[in-house]
Amino acid sequence: MDNINSSLSPKKIIAVNMVEGKVIWMSDRIYPQHFYPLSIKDYCYAIKSAVKKGLKALPILSISSKDYPYCDFSCEDCLACPSRNWAIKAGHIKYPVIPLDKYKNMLKEISRYSKERGVDRVRFEFCGEGNPDLYEHRAEIIRYAAQECNMGVVYVSTGSHLTDDLCYTLVKNASFIRISFPGITTEAYAHYSGQSRFGYNDALNLLKKLVALRQQMKRENGLLLGVRTCLRKDNDGHYKDFIKTIGELGVDCFQGVKVLLYHNKESQYEKISPQTIRELNEIKEEYAQYGLKHFVVPNDLSSIHINRALRDTNKPLKCWSSKISPALYGSNLICCVLWDRIINSEFHYGIMEGESGELESMMHGERAEFIAQHCPSCCEECCSFADNQFIDELWKVLKLQDDIDEIDFFFEYC
Ligand code: SF4
Ligand code: SF4
Repeated sequence: MDNINSSLSPKKIIAVNMVEGKVIWMSDRIYPQHFYPLSIKDYCYAIKSAVKKGLKALPILSISSKDYPYCDFSCEDCLACPSRNWAIKAGHIKYPVIPLDKYKNMLKEISRYSKERGVDRVRFEFCGEGNPDLYEHRAEIIRYAAQECNMGVVYVSTGSHLTDDLCYTLVKNASFIRISFPGITTEAYAHYSGQSRFGYNDALNLLKKLVALRQQMKRENGLLLGVRTCLRKDNDGHYKDFIKTIGELGVDCFQGVKVLLYHNKESQYEKISPQTIRELNEIKEEYAQYGLKHFVVPNDLSSIHINRALRDTNKPLKCWSSKISPALYGSNLICCVLWDRIINSEFHYGIMEGESGELESMMHGERAEFIAQHCPSCCEECCSFADNQFIDELWKVLKLQDDIDEIDFFFEYC
């Protein structure tokens, strides 16, 4: 099995006591697209190490970086507007667009911090709050992250400004390119993206180009190509055609997500139609015959709006994701990407300058203690609920083991 197939196909993860030959825990919450090029197994080993050596031994496994708060699209329900208006106001975010040398030093520091905690390859996601294609040093920072810091580069964009040079750099260096489609027909794309310069067919042509380049550079075994869309009304009835189209183009995976909304918007009560639920469930069974390697939509398809509410009854012990997968907004290191955490600097670990050793003081200093004390207890919503719940469960199981060194983790593929 090649690297991509073996990453996308596990069905379960199990923890085994190797001395007793006994399975002590299992979970089917694998989420391969969410973790790629890492996997849930990397998270399990990080937690095992923290059980043995303490929480300060936790590496940063993944960072999503919001480094360009300007966009050429005007999407319906874009969540970035309030936070990016806040960010670009003088002083709120020191470097909303990070100078290249500083950015390089920051990446070096992140990879050093994690390497000293046993992780050689940090997943580094360049993503939203704007169009990452437009950052003038994008090609150089991607190359640097992959080649000088051994990072697993994940690139999430509409791709509307991917130049030939940037496409080449991405295909050569990235582990995962995920192109976002505001809509999956010509009309839906134009409607939801709020602009007309770059349309549905342009996005399909871009995918074609990326697939061809990947073949030319013989990167089929290392570069995952995916597509993501929101499950919005105008997409209804078009999912099968779309999946066939991208499957024929050579795209590997599809992710359908619910629309994220701020509280109190009336549309949060909108339902997904029974026909659409049927169509999506049928594709779940059939996607391989259309040429895709992975297809994922939320398990709960009852409403269009995602419910991220955290109730006292379902709060995890700790906010693990703030330690293992914090976010960068410009050079500010933040506990997560929830918009009300972004605009409240109490939840920022600090401002990275790219100096060696600064992450120890940020991740284990006073601000980190404040975050650990207040999250998740004061969080009303959570953007990493599934990750936190998974790690919480594993943490409790591993803490009960007499000898943690006897525990190992394996994937099950059927
Ligand atoms: S592409 Fe992303 S950042 Fe830009 S408007 Fe759309 S949702 Fe917002
Ligand atoms: S919302 Fe709170 S609990 Fe969830 S990831 Fe953010 S800080 Fe952690």
